[in-house]
Order: sequence, then structure tokens, then C-alpha cells
Amino acid sequence: MAGYIMGLGITHLGSGSRGNATLISTENSNVLVDCGFSLKQTESRLAIADVDPDSIDAVVVTHHHKDHSGSALRASKKWGASLHCNMGTAIRMGWRPIEECTTFGNLERLDFPDGMSMLTIPVPHDDSDNVGIIASDGRGSRAGIVTDLGEATRDLVKQLSGCNHISIESNYDHLRLVRGPYPDSLKRRISGRGGHLSNFQTGQILQEVSNENLQSVVLCHLSERNNAPHIAESEVLLAMGDEFGGSVSISKQKGPEFTHWTGIEEPSKLATV
Ligand SMILES: [Zn+2]
Ligand SMILES: [Zn+2]
Repeated sequence: MAGYIMGLGITHLGSGSRGNATLISTENSNVLVDCGFSLKQTESRLAIADVDPDSIDAVVVTHHHKDHSGSALRASKKWGASLHCNMGTAIRMGWRPIEECTTFGNLERLDFPDGMSMLTIPVPHDDSDNVGIIASDGRGSRAGIVTDLGEATRDLVKQLSGCNHISIESNYDHLRLVRGPYPDSLKRRISGRGGHLSNFQTGQILQEVSNENLQSVVLCHLSERNNAPHIAESEVLLAMGDEFGGSVSISKQKGPEFTHWTGIEEPSKLATV
């Protein structure tokens, strides 16, 4: 890889209702989007990705739900990383702005070392102030990271349209949810405007934002009960059609399994310990 500019690295340490954390890297910076595993788990998953926790510059928390926020404050203190979230999340978490976290507004650009930045896009989700993230390496590569939303907004579709990589939730298969064991009220909440995206919805969004620069898609936050990787993958590939020449992978609860680098076609496999 000598002389090759790697762009942005995207490594899911794991994804699902029991925890989420996604490492976004450039050659000289590391930012963790969400920190929903225990501190010990997060550190052992970072070790698999060969990343020293002390090299994490910042932790960005998308919303207060435990599977995204869990050990964020403890981790940021231990690693000497700055902690970022919006005011709604800070209030729900009881984190003190300035002292413990830096708050951001909607559609605000957060600047990190090495020219990396992230744009925060508000998305509708269950009694929370959730945001999607568009990361940029400052040299033309962009990656979207978006989970936990009932539907896409105009701003989100616009921002995803220019991305080289998209990690997006594909939470449930509609039929499995409807026929499954959940009580009706919970089914309504999951499938409602403030819930999660179905495979079908995710396919529609990806079809709309797909462009010639889009290299890779990672489907995340799959429900273990109401979805299956092969169903999500085939529904999304079908919706995206033949024009999409990139790769589609799944991030599972247990990880990390691979890193996607914008500018490089194939994801690099990580050795599991
Ligand atoms: Zn979640
Ligand atoms: Zn959530």
C-alpha cells in the first residue's frame, strides 16, 4: 500500500440490539461512533482490529439508548478521548456538558485530527434525539453511518447520496415481524415512523442514494428474532439492481470481522483471536 492514500476506514466492532460501536479511521486518527459494549468488551474488540484504545481521539454517541451509549463516558475518560453528543442525549445520560461531554447541534460539522470530520443528521427514532453520521476524510472520501431510525429524512437521503461507503441498519423483515411473537404494540413501535428500518425500507433508501462512487454497503443492527442475514442481503441487492457494482456485507453482533477502506475494493478481513 506504499504511497496509497487509504481514505476512510470503517470497522464495526459489532452491531445489534445488544451493543454497537463503529470505528472510523484515517491514517492518523480514530473516532468511535457509539460505545454500547462494556469497556472490557470494547477494548478486546479494538485489540482484534489492532487498535490501541489510547489512540482513540473521540467518541461520538448517536443517542442515549444503552446499546449505543453504554460505556461511552467511562471509555472517554479512560482513553483521554473527547466525548460528543447532542443536548438531548447529554440530558438523558446525565452527562455534564463541557465537563464531561461536548454537545453538538443538528447538521453540525465536528472536526477531528488529521482532517477527519463528521456531520450530524437528525433522524426520527423512539423517544430519542438520534443522529446519523456522515464522516469525511477531508480529501474527498465520505462514509455514512446510520442506525436506529423509523424512516429516512430528506437531509439524510441528500447526504448519503454522495457517499463512497454506507453502513445502514436493516433491522427487520416485515413478514417475520408481523408473524412473529412480539405483542402488537411492540410490532407497531418497531415498524412505525420512530422505530427501525425494515429490509424493504433500507433497500429503497439504498436504491435512491446509490451512485457510481458507492463502493461498499454494510447492513447493520439486524434483529436476531425478526431478520436473517441472507434475507436482508438478498432484499437489498434486489432493490439496488445491477447498476450497483460494489459489495454488500453484514455486520453481526459479534465482531469485528473486517475493515472497509474507501478507495479499496475488497474489505480487509481481520484475524479473529
Ligand atoms: Zn440500537
Ligand atoms: Zn435506539
